[in-house]
Amino acid sequence: MSGGFVYSEKPVRIERGEGVHLYDDDGTEYLDFGASYGVAAVGHCHPEVVSAVKSQVERLTFVQASYPNAARDGLYEKLAAVAPGDLDDVWLCNSGTEANEAALKFARSATGDSKIVAARDGFHGRTMGSLAATWKPKYKTPFEPLAGDVEFVPYGDEEALAEAVDDETAAVLLEPIQGEGGVNPAPEGYLQAAREVTDETGAALIFDEIQTGLGRTGTLWACEKRGVTPDVLTTAKGLGGGLPVAATLCADWVAEEAGPHGSTFSGGPVVSAAAEATLSVIADENLPANAAEVGSHLQSKLGGSELPIRTVRGEGLLVGVEVGRGANRVLKQLAMDHGILALPAGRSVVRLLPPLTVEESHADEVIDALESALAEVSA
Ligand SMILES: *Cc1c(COP(=O)(O)O)cnc(C)c1O
Repeated sequence: MSGGFVYSEKPVRIERGEGVHLYDDDGTEYLDFGASYGVAAVGHCHPEVVSAVKSQVERLTFVQASYPNAARDGLYEKLAAVAPGDLDDVWLCNSGTEANEAALKFARSATGDSKIVAARDGFHGRTMGSLAATWKPKYKTPFEPLAGDVEFVPYGDEEALAEAVDDETAAVLLEPIQGEGGVNPAPEGYLQAAREVTDETGAALIFDEIQTGLGRTGTLWACEKRGVTPDVLTTAKGLGGGLPVAATLCADWVAEEAGPHGSTFSGGPVVSAAAEATLSVIADENLPANAAEVGSHLQSKLGGSELPIRTVRGEGLLVGVEVGRGANRVLKQLAMDHGILALPAGRSVVRLLPPLTVEESHADEVIDALESALAEVSA
């Protein structure tokens, strides 16, 4: 064996990206309704991100985190300004799992407790700590023992949550809408209940908005719509417009007791410039509003269609279409016969997670293709 491993590769070699489209080395165009797990939130190679990266990489590619620099200050300021509530203390890192890893460490250090409460079907990343708080046994078993002291509760069950959280709990870690776990929005009142029980016991409430954040669900943060502000919020995926950058946004009481943490690449100038440009694009192009509009068009059309699907779930442009087992066959058909790329969420759900710049006509294209793909797969 030589060369790359870990990933099984798809039979398509991607050469170029522009907006909502990807192109392979034969010049075939694909409509990207997976956005590489949501990374391409502002579309591929957005000109403003490209230009910010180009000028930054020429001026100062990197400097260690202990030297302040304008690119990172710009991102700090921008993130603090858009953070929900008072979560204006910013830790920058390179990936979603690291943002959660930091959130868990900060919560332990600020509370002096160690127990973590997380949800069944939750997904928080693949490093040892975040993985310990991730539900799926398939991802964990070969690597155990992980950083223990995690109790799992059924997602959406307020009573189970209240029972699991006590004075020894450092953090409750939840996605406002579970992404990988099948696109499951928190039921009405659930996040509020999580806020109340953590307020009572002094645990930190952490929302993992790595998939739901940055406008995807129709507001900049999914927790906004529910009127609940956590103590820590993590964001990644689309934040860098394609470059690897993530953030852990904290309330003062958590940040003040964060303890010794660090990372060589924290807040590098190039990724900071990319993220600042991405946040500007999201605001300037009103992408949360577009996600709400195109998302509701997509969902209502899917819901009202004659398609052989079980349910349609989600918010904005985070949409799960339950097709029954065999989601992967439907996805393959969509890609190979219709030039549409999307994602699975478990074995039975097709997950639509396009760039937030898509238009209603793109959604219509996907619905038509889904209709044929479902017919072909069941034929
Ligand atoms: C993707 C994802 C992560 C992990 O992010 P990585 O950048 O892959 O480490 C964590 N939480 C949620 C909700 C995600 O969707």
